[in-house]
Amino acid sequence: MSKPVIGLGGVLEKAPPTSAFPTFRRLFTNEGYLAKLQKAGALPILLPIASQADLECMVGLCDGILLPGGPDIDPSFYNQERHELCGPSDPDVDRYQIQLFHIARKLNKPILGICRGAQLINVAQGGTLFQDYRLQSVNPIIHPDYQRWDCVSHQVEVVPNSILSELFMTDSLGVNSLHHQSIAKPGTDCKVTAFSSDGSIEAIELSSGAWCTGVQWHPEAMGSEMDCLFEVFINEALA
Ligand code: MN
Repeated sequence: MSKPVIGLGGVLEKAPPTSAFPTFRRLFTNEGYLAKLQKAGALPILLPIASQADLECMVGLCDGILLPGGPDIDPSFYNQERHELCGPSDPDVDRYQIQLFHIARKLNKPILGICRGAQLINVAQGGTLFQDYRLQSVNPIIHPDYQRWDCVSHQVEVVPNSILSELFMTDSLGVNSLHHQSIAKPGTDCKVTAFSSDGSIEAIELSSGAWCTGVQWHPEAMGSEMDCLFEVFINEALA
């Protein structure tokens, strides 16, 4: 059986001063996504920014699309003014990843969104974000918990009859939490499938079209207890 090809949306960043090429921008992804996809039996490839026609060709070569974590999405993409708590954004990357999403949907490719990727699915479907977790709740739990980046930071309540409830077979899941923004108004066909005790939306799935799930946590940074999420995505890509 041939391995499914998973295309990843990259993030642009200036190379650090210690790099041999500090003035260059580069497209990158974090190796955690690649390692988990490879462990699940996939061939991950990083998709460059390109024209609409070329992106359509590239997505056509893939069996699934992974939208990874990254910087904040520019608030203009969900028709809001920038709040002072919103972090830096790169509209070029936002535009290209939203294109990838829409092309993948058109071509019926399964999509897994992680952190920013989950937010991007929601924004592409017409939803909105909280520009900082402190704007959502007067008594929030600490969602940007960088000390516990690879282990459980808080629990999420999993909504029954969802992709996640069928996968993890539990109504409470321990997750890490490396986000300062979260989904506010769910977009078209975005079904909330997990939330935390302060009401923060922690996962969504699309109720129409090909398999599409977004999680606010970082399963690629956690242990093998999160491998099933990549496995089910790969199975969908093979189908
Ligand atoms: Mn969280």
